[in-house]
Amino acid sequence: MKRWSIKFKIIFLYTLFFALLITLEFYLLRTSANQILNSQAEQDIVNSANAVANSIQIEDDGVYIETLDEEEHFNYYHDGVIYMFYEGNQVVFGQAPSNFDETTAIHLNTVKTQDLNGMSWLVYDLSVEKGYTMRAIYDLTPISSSTQQVFLITEILSPILVLISAVGVYIIIRRSFKPIRDIYQTASEIKEKEDYSKRIKTSNSKDEVHRLAEMVNLMLDHVEQSMNREKQFSSNVSHELRTPLTVMQAQAEYLLEQTKDETKKTEIKTIIHQIAFMENIVTQLLEITRTRQISKEEMDIIDLHELIKLTGESLTPKLEEKNISFTINAPIFSTKIYCNQTMMIRAFTNLITNAIKYNKENGTIMIRFKKENNQLITMISDTGVGIAKDKLEQIFNPFYRVDESRNQNNESIGLGLSLVREVILLHNGEIQVESIEGVGTTFFIHLPLNK
Ligand code: ADP
Repeated sequence: MKRWSIKFKIIFLYTLFFALLITLEFYLLRTSANQILNSQAEQDIVNSANAVANSIQIEDDGVYIETLDEEEHFNYYHDGVIYMFYEGNQVVFGQAPSNFDETTAIHLNTVKTQDLNGMSWLVYDLSVEKGYTMRAIYDLTPISSSTQQVFLITEILSPILVLISAVGVYIIIRRSFKPIRDIYQTASEIKEKEDYSKRIKTSNSKDEVHRLAEMVNLMLDHVEQSMNREKQFSSNVSHELRTPLTVMQAQAEYLLEQTKDETKKTEIKTIIHQIAFMENIVTQLLEITRTRQISKEEMDIIDLHELIKLTGESLTPKLEEKNISFTINAPIFSTKIYCNQTMMIRAFTNLITNAIKYNKENGTIMIRFKKENNQLITMISDTGVGIAKDKLEQIFNPFYRVDESRNQNNESIGLGLSLVREVILLHNGEIQVESIEGVGTTFFIHLPLNK
C-alpha cells in the first residue's frame, strides 16, 4: 500500500468502508425485517387460533363453527390459517396442505416454524375440547418470498451503489488534487527546463492545497531571485576581469619581446598561456551570460541540418588531424527550427568539437535526425572514450571535467556543455546523453520544430 498514490488510497479505503457499511446495513435489515415479519405473523396465528378455538364445536361427524346467527360446518380454513384436528398423533379432521409434514410432533402453545421443500410454515398447537388438539398452520412462503425479492434487489443494487460512490469519489478527488498535479507538473518542468520563472496556476480558492500552491510559488520567487543574483554576479565578475586580463596579456607579450634571457622567456610564455586560459574562461562565461539575454528579435527560422553541415565543414582541419570521418544522415523531413543562429552554431560547434576531442584516431562521428511529436531530435554519436554512468549527470555542470589529467594543455575548461545546455534550454529544448565507456557517446538534442 506504501507504493499507492494518495488518490488511489483514499478511493480504495473509502470504497472499502462504504462497501462494509452497506453490507452491515444489509445484514441488519435482513435480520430485523425477518424478525419483525415473523413476530407479526406469530401474533396473528395465535390470535386467530384462539378465536377459532373459542367458537368451534367438535362433533363425531366433524367440526362446527358458530357464526353470527347459526352454526355451520367448519371448512378448516379461517383468516388465512389452515386448521387440523388431532386425536393423539392421528389427524381426525382437516387436511394437511401439500408440502407440510403432518407428523411433526405436537408442542402445545408454542409457535414453531417448519421449512420443507422450499415452503415455510408457522405452526401453532393448542388443546381444544374433548381431548383434541387443534393445529393452526400459516403459510409464510409469500411473505418470505417477497422479502427475498426485496433482499435480492438490494443485493443487486448494493454493488452498483458502491461503484457509483467510488466513481463519485474519484471525480471529487481528481478535482481536489488538481492543484497538487499542477505543483508536480510545474516542479518537473522546472527540473527539466531549469526555467525558474514558471509558476503554479492558482485560483481564488483558499483551501489547504491552494495555500500550499501559493507557498510553493513564493518559494519559487525566492529561488528565482537568488539564481538571478548569482547569474548577475558571475556576469559582473567576468566583465570586471576582462580588462585587467587584456592589459596583463599585452604587458606579458611586451616583456617577452624585450627579454633575451631564455629561462625568463619560458616563464613569461607560461604566464601568457595561463592568461589565455583565463581569458578563455571569461569569454565562455560571458557567452553563457549573453545566451540568457537573447531577445526575440535575434531569433530566426534556421535549417538545423544545414547549420550542422556547415559547422562540421568548419571543423574539417580538426577532423583531419585525427582522421575522423564525419557523416550526416540527410533527413527526409524539414529540420527548420526557430532559433538564434549564432548561439546554435556555438552549441553544435562545442558538441562536435567534444566528439572530436574525446574520439579515438580514425574514429567516426555520426549525425542523425528524428522527428517526434513536432520535436526535432538531433543525435550526435562518436566512437570515443565514453563517459562513466555515474558521471553522466554531472557533465553539464560548469567547470566539470570527467578526467582532469587529460587537461594538460589547458584546453578543457568544463564550460562547453554548460553553454550548450543553456542554449538548448533557451530554445525550449532538452539535452540528454547516453554513453558506454570505451565505445562511444551519443548526445540527444530535442528542439521544437518550426510549425
Ligand atoms: P570541456 O571543456 O572539458 O570539453 P565540456 O563542458 O564540453 O568541457 O565537457 C565536460 C566534460 O564532459 C569533458 O571534460 C569530458 O570529460 C566530458 N565529455 C564531453 N563530451 C564528451 C564526449 N563526446 N565523449 C566523452 N566525454 C565527453
